[in-house]
Amino acid sequence: MEKKVALVTGASRGIGKACALELADAGYDVVINYVSSEAPALAVVEEIKAKGVNAKAVKFDVSDKDEVAQGIAAILEEFGRIDVLVNNAGITRDNLIIRMDDAAWEAVINTNLNSVFYVTKPVVKAMMKQRSGAIINMASICGVYGNAGQTNYSSAKAGVIGFTKALAKEVASRGITVNAVAPGFIATDMTHDLDKDKIAENIPLKRLGEVDDIAKTVRFLAEDGKYITSQVISVDGGLTI
Ligand code: NAP
Repeated sequence: MEKKVALVTGASRGIGKACALELADAGYDVVINYVSSEAPALAVVEEIKAKGVNAKAVKFDVSDKDEVAQGIAAILEEFGRIDVLVNNAGITRDNLIIRMDDAAWEAVINTNLNSVFYVTKPVVKAMMKQRSGAIINMASICGVYGNAGQTNYSSAKAGVIGFTKALAKEVASRGITVNAVAPGFIATDMTHDLDKDKIAENIPLKRLGEVDDIAKTVRFLAEDGKYITSQVISVDGGLTI
């Protein structure tokens, strides 16, 4: 049987790393994208290889169109196919709008939204030739409900949700599913400085999410959710009910 291949952007740590490990458990060869954390990315590669599947770390800045184009071309050249794409890389640059400078706006829109277009376009082209594939975009509940201090981030994630729904309609006839996962508060570097006890009080399930809560949802969408497309799956401990 032909090997199946997954690409996870921003997989050196946090949610992306957990998704990469989970997809490796499901038998995928996994490409680990990162931008600065080389040693952690290489450690993820070793952890995945120990599971008996192939892995490779590929450095590119998802917000740089040319770097992405070269990176994806190299991955397709070496692995021959991409069956699952997880658009996960993301950043925050929080501030109230009156204090938000152009750089904070542009960095978040470029890294969290424009990146999804740059990465998905060449990947979906390959998937269309394969006539199969699963694309999973990491959105956020902020993209549905908004969050004060995050106009940049909420806009980018809302854009990712619109992108997901439009692309799902374009490529369904080629056997490709496109879905978004909308995490609530997940314990990673991104949420490290927040008051977790206070946040947990307002979450119906009374805890922050773990990276595995997201990774298992991603694995489900990639492996078992073959009749699910264009959906936004909230994984937020009930925060938005
Ligand atoms: P994280 O722990 O801060 O990790 C971010 C990852 O993205 C790292 O692997 C980082 O690579 C990579 N990355 C950042 N900028 C990049 C770029 N320009 N090019 C390539 N890779 C880049 O974040 P996380 O909490 O796991 O979040 C992952 C995703 O989930 C993000 O899209 C985030 O918006 C979303 N999310 C998170 C939460 C949460 O509560 N944590 C909630 C909702 C949504 P390096 O290590 O090389 O810098």
